[in-house]
Amino acid sequence: MQIRALRKHGAPLHILAPGKAYRRDNPDATHSPMFHQVEGLAVDTDITFADLKGTLDFFCRKFFGEKVRTSFHPTYFPFTEPSGEVSISCFVCEGRGSDNSGQICRTCKGSGWMEVMGCGMVHPEVLRAGGVDPERYSGWAFGLGIERFAMVKYDIHDIQLFFQSDMRFLEQFG
Ligand SMILES: [Zn+2]
Repeated sequence: MQIRALRKHGAPLHILAPGKAYRRDNPDATHSPMFHQVEGLAVDTDITFADLKGTLDFFCRKFFGEKVRTSFHPTYFPFTEPSGEVSISCFVCEGRGSDNSGQICRTCKGSGWMEVMGCGMVHPEVLRAGGVDPERYSGWAFGLGIERFAMVKYDIHDIQLFFQSDMRFLEQFG
C-alpha cells in the first residue's frame, strides 16, 4: 500500500491502511494463512524514529491501558531500515511475570512482555519508488495484526476462533 499511496497522493502523507493479508502459513492456534492487518505510514519532513516510538507508545497505552510500557527491539524487515519489534509490558501481571501468589502469568507466559507488532523507518528505496525524494522526506511505518491485538487484549488463545462463525465465541463481543 505504501508505494501505491505515495504515488497517488505524494508527500507529506499520513495514512492507515486496513485490509486482508495472505501468507503461506499452516493454520494452528497462532497462525492463519489469512488475517487482518492495519498498516500505518507517515511521510513528512523531519520525521524521526522518536516520532514513531512516541506514536506507538501512545497508541499502546490507549489500547491496552495507561500502565502499559513499550519496548523496541532491533530486527530486520525488507521495507524499513532500521526496523523494530514492539513489545508491551504485560497488562495482566504488570510486567512482573507472575501473579500475587507467585503463579506464572498465563498471558505473557512469565516473561512480563508480549510482542505485538513490527515497525521501522521507511527504506529510502521505498520512498524513491513512490516518487518521493528521500533527501527531503523521511517516514515511519508499522504493521499490526488485528486478530493478534484482539487475542492479547481479550486473552484468546486460538486465532482460528475468529474464522469459525461460532456464536458462542462471537457473542462475547456483542
Ligand atoms: Zn503477564
